[in-house]
Amino acid sequence: MAAAVSAARNGASVTLLERYAYLGGLASGGMVLVLDDFTDGAEITVGGIAQEMVERLEAIGLAVYPPVADRSLSEEMWRRWSRWGLFDLYAKGSMKAIVYAVAFDPDGWKRVSNYLLEEEGVNVRLHSLYTSPIMEGDAITGVICATKKGPQAIRGEVVIDASGDADVAAGAGASYISGSYMVTTVFRLGNVDTSSADRFERERPAECHEINRAARRILGGSWALWWLKTPLPGVVWCNCPHMSGFDGISPEDLTEADRQGRKRIAGLVEYVRGHYPGFEKAVVVDVAPQIGVRQSRLIEGDYVVSKHDVVNRLHFSDSVARGRGYYTPYRAMLPKGVEQLLVAGRHYSATAEAQRLSREIPPCMAMGEAAGVAAVEALERGVSPRQVDAAAIQRRLREQGADPGDVPSPRAQPAPAEAQPARGTLAAR
Ligand SMILES: Cc1cc2nc3c(=O)[nH]c(=O)nc-3n(C[C@H](O)[C@H](O)[C@H](O)COP(=O)(O)OP(=O)(O)OC[C@H]3O[C@@H](n4cnc5c(N)ncnc54)[C@H](O)[C@@H]3O)c2cc1C
Repeated sequence: MAAAVSAARNGASVTLLERYAYLGGLASGGMVLVLDDFTDGAEITVGGIAQEMVERLEAIGLAVYPPVADRSLSEEMWRRWSRWGLFDLYAKGSMKAIVYAVAFDPDGWKRVSNYLLEEEGVNVRLHSLYTSPIMEGDAITGVICATKKGPQAIRGEVVIDASGDADVAAGAGASYISGSYMVTTVFRLGNVDTSSADRFERERPAECHEINRAARRILGGSWALWWLKTPLPGVVWCNCPHMSGFDGISPEDLTEADRQGRKRIAGLVEYVRGHYPGFEKAVVVDVAPQIGVRQSRLIEGDYVVSKHDVVNRLHFSDSVARGRGYYTPYRAMLPKGVEQLLVAGRHYSATAEAQRLSREIPPCMAMGEAAGVAAVEALERGVSPRQVDAAAIQRRLREQGADPGDVPSPRAQPAPAEAQPARGTLAAR
């Protein structure tokens, strides 16, 4: 969505293909309902279309985030915001700093996505499953989709693969690695009296801790706070269970994970109705229509981001997107071996360990926004995306309110010369 909006705003004619009946991917269909990695603690690191989504969701009452005055490490703020999940995920200790992160509603996300794409005149085609590329030599010139009406071909001068699983890049012959991480059947419970649950936690912490432990055991793996509040009263978000050993692109594995997930959820509901004050009348509102796959294929691009790069906040001169404290070089969006193709999102060029630390929704959207701009630069200059000057992408991104990470934060370190783009690899402007 971010890639399509960004390319259209810069003047391109854009077709967006989506296999499901709605837009948003994991954020809406996977019901991943907190936007993390918007900040490095000191400054907001993601702007642009991701931030615009927040503003539009907030305007319809479907986004919640802590005001600036509440963003701190204190018992009072922890009590106020922890059950919204709006804290520094990576901080150590049981009490963490409250930061700028956003809880939102999945249906609101789908609706706002529709508005944005309609406003920009993007040709949206849902129910269109990409199946194979159209190639001319090593350049991609379009894709074939499976639809109810049979196969359909869509031509494009530049293709952006935002499938999360590198479906297009892999099909086009780009190199990739097969990553994997736990998968989750995310769900929501309704009819929850969150005030009673809060009071129980505050007044009988030891007992509450034991009940939460038992609940997590039934789930078979979860974050410590297995339920979080949502913008809808009485509806809580459960970003669990954690299930390991499944391949996120195998139909057999995904079928089995879905079966196991639903079984665990049913067990959990039975337990909390009988034991957890506030959950006596809880019901399952929904299990996310798509299973939560955190990692599958990861492309091998012109640069492969490492865990060292992410953890040490290495800054690249061709940075086009930022996350928590890390920077994404444009080269990590250029799959090796295929021309006219860009990738954006969780399948970008990173090691499996690095991707686990750098795949949150806002930075994925920042990559999408950068890919849209890069595609237009390539079209306007009549060059391949690989030859686009990163400085031109950075300039345009700044102009449209995004933060490409061209200006390193005081806490960043310059990447060593061997990790920077080689002189002359990007076309001189
Ligand atoms: C359970 C879980 C919990 C998470 N928790 C958080 C969190 O709390 N906060 C956070 O910020 N991030 C979290 N993440 C990470 C984050 O949700 C993802 O990394 C991010 O949403 C990925 O976005 P994406 O656009 O790259 O991919 P996706 O969201 O996977 O989007 C890919 C899109 O492409 C479509 N598509 C795929 N294949 C095809 C095809 N062949 N043809 C047509 N369309 C196709 C999909 O349907 C989808 O719309 C979590 C992830 C999971 C799974």
